[in-house]
Amino acid sequence: MVMTACPEEVHVIGIVVVSDNGALAGAAVTLARKMFPKVPIDGATGIDPMQVAAAIAHVDDGTGVVVLMDPDTVDPSAPSVLELLADELRQRVTLCQVPLDEGLIAAVIAAEAGGTPDEVAAAAREGLEDKRLELVRRSPPELSSVTETDYRTAHFTVADPHGLHARPGARLVATARQFDAVVHVRNATTASGWVSAASLTKVVTLGVRSGHVVEVRATGNQADDAVTAVAALHSNAPLASNLPKARTVGLSRGVGIGPAWTADDSVGPMPEESQGADKELRLLESAIATVTEIVSHDRRTAADRIGEGAAQIFDVHAALLTDPELLDTARARILSGENAIRAWSAEIELVTAAFGYVSDQYIRERAADVRAVGAQVQHALSGTVAPSIIGASGIVIAGDLTPAQVLELDRERVSGVVLAAGSTTSHTAVLLRANGIPAVGGADIDIASGTVVALDGSSGELAVNPAKSTLTKFRSRQADLDERLSRAQTQAFEPAVTRDGVEIVVGATIGSVEDARRAAENGADLAGLVRTEFLFLDRPTPPTVDEQAAIYQAIAETLGDRQLTIRTLDIGGDKSLPYVPQLLEANPFLGTRGLRYGLTFPTLLSDQLVAIAQTALTHRVNVMFPMVATVAEVVAARKLLDWAVARCGGNPQIGVGVMVEVPAAALRAATLARYVDFVSIGTNDLTQYTLAAERGNAAVAHLSDNLDPAVLQLVKATCDGFHERKVAVCGELAVDDTAVPLLCALGVRAFTVRPTHIPLTKAAVRQTHLATAKDWLLDCVDMTDGGAVRARLDIFQSLV
Ligand code: PEP
Ligand code: MG
Repeated sequence: MVMTACPEEVHVIGIVVVSDNGALAGAAVTLARKMFPKVPIDGATGIDPMQVAAAIAHVDDGTGVVVLMDPDTVDPSAPSVLELLADELRQRVTLCQVPLDEGLIAAVIAAEAGGTPDEVAAAAREGLEDKRLELVRRSPPELSSVTETDYRTAHFTVADPHGLHARPGARLVATARQFDAVVHVRNATTASGWVSAASLTKVVTLGVRSGHVVEVRATGNQADDAVTAVAALHSNAPLASNLPKARTVGLSRGVGIGPAWTADDSVGPMPEESQGADKELRLLESAIATVTEIVSHDRRTAADRIGEGAAQIFDVHAALLTDPELLDTARARILSGENAIRAWSAEIELVTAAFGYVSDQYIRERAADVRAVGAQVQHALSGTVAPSIIGASGIVIAGDLTPAQVLELDRERVSGVVLAAGSTTSHTAVLLRANGIPAVGGADIDIASGTVVALDGSSGELAVNPAKSTLTKFRSRQADLDERLSRAQTQAFEPAVTRDGVEIVVGATIGSVEDARRAAENGADLAGLVRTEFLFLDRPTPPTVDEQAAIYQAIAETLGDRQLTIRTLDIGGDKSLPYVPQLLEANPFLGTRGLRYGLTFPTLLSDQLVAIAQTALTHRVNVMFPMVATVAEVVAARKLLDWAVARCGGNPQIGVGVMVEVPAAALRAATLARYVDFVSIGTNDLTQYTLAAERGNAAVAHLSDNLDPAVLQLVKATCDGFHERKVAVCGELAVDDTAVPLLCALGVRAFTVRPTHIPLTKAAVRQTHLATAKDWLLDCVDMTDGGAVRARLDIFQSLV
């Protein structure tokens, strides 16, 4: 009988870890299983051949088994292990002696990628080679001290449909190591940082996919040959020595000009020796305690200076410092003889690498949080000071900054930030925007301290050592912006009226009492969206009605007599609550989210409605339901609200609205208008659901354009359906000032934006002539794509 292999079914070989040190083997196996659940892994103590044989039998499914033996393990048992195995099984077993910390992860990566036993054993040994080469690699020339002309460079496009996974990665590493050169690579497509081409784990964690461009660069005697050989591995790869400039992206709007200030984030040399497990464990505990205090201090600073929303970034860091698995595996390493700093650093490296395997972009980006906390503990352990950014001035140049470092930046002295990291959704980018510091990411950061740098965080432009004419261009943009901002601020408390006399409401998005204060200071007409998730997340039990009412009232009081629209909790999608049964859904963004979640767990929603109704007894309050798709949902929600009003001990007047975030809601706007008083279009989600492109997924980010004509048609449909009533827009599109005339032309009459942006939105409204905008812009809904719409908006701005 001829058997054909099913292409879906991928068999991976099993791995057995053998060490005299049971604790080490156990910890290594736990960790590797956690990172690579597809690979069968078991462990055994080397002194017991029966145990080893049992472990081999356990992981074998007929594909083969590689036994990794710690070199410190006395080996005489090996032949007898093999003797214990059945003939057929013995032929499938490959023995390989490698240090577990270096070899295991490389081996498991290779196994997961479908490697043969020989390839897996080779990958493990290359991990060992890595260690041997450590002396050579220990003092690579600092990237920043080498000038552009000292490098030999090339780039290639990866054609392998699976990207640069373990096997091609291992080939790249093996090739790079053959030369007398220090070779680094990076993923140019994702604008990653540079990693050593001698390290398989580092190369694999670059996340290079098919079609991505990889940059290679080398210094040293054989730099030319090394670069040529690495690039030539990819036969269809065009070899070029003139690299395209990295594509920089705007992270935080505004223009910054100044001398480069380069951050030094070295932790210093790590000691080799352990001072004994007890002492090292105590050192680790004490470093964790120190950093926990620092993090809670940073949280308070962020809450005071920027608001509760930003402060929650530090809750993520606090949670990592108490993560039992992270701590347990670091402790296991210490017990097996490593010192605290090496144990901690190795764990952090593995956890960040594991994050790199998660397909969800948002979760992958949380690796930056792990690195940030990891570095803080490393500094506490090594007695070095965390890289201080406090004295920074001019343009700060860094691979990445931690959220804590962003808080340390002195806004008076720092005029901009240039990062190699390029994520606009990272916590660092969120804080840079909240602090109003212009920034670009995805940049080549080989910029010597003192070099003049100019950047534009709106367009993402970066000029290093700019020509006089370029500098003049940036200066004039900066002057325009400053002038615009100060003029906008002086008029922030006046109503926003278009040049032809139509009044537009400009309200604030709020997530805390602090945000409410900023909204009041920046001239908000009202609070158009109070996000309430912060009350429900990161706690073991739900907030009580009284707790909620106290916060809503504090927000309302801070806003004075301004109207307040409280959105009920928007959980589901990427957010879950620890005290509510976890729903297992294949596509959570298309599942029980927003109002659907509230109706599924009605006690949660009705308690919140009681707290809102109580607040409405003394303040002007509206309630708004998120992610509505059908009339039935609105009817059910209104019933719960009626019930809550009956329980609140009075007869409050509460306006009821929905967010239009689902195309179905936009298309039935006229029907919905019979059931609600007002509507606010959530452009972030409306874009996601219209284009079927998940918000956090970088792979479909190019589709996720909030100016796509399809989104604009739904905005228009909503305004048409609600005609006569003010339709509001919130989400990121609302803060795009160039889109203000278009949205007004489509029928939008209210904008909800972050508090500090209110003066700018009002200014954009005042520049708009509505009748002209209608003449010029209404046909945007029929254009081919968002690019065409943008081009029209640019022309409109320059002419009108
Ligand atoms: C939106 O979807 O545009 C919105 C404002 O809601 P959130 O970003 O909170 O999902
Ligand atoms: Mg939304």
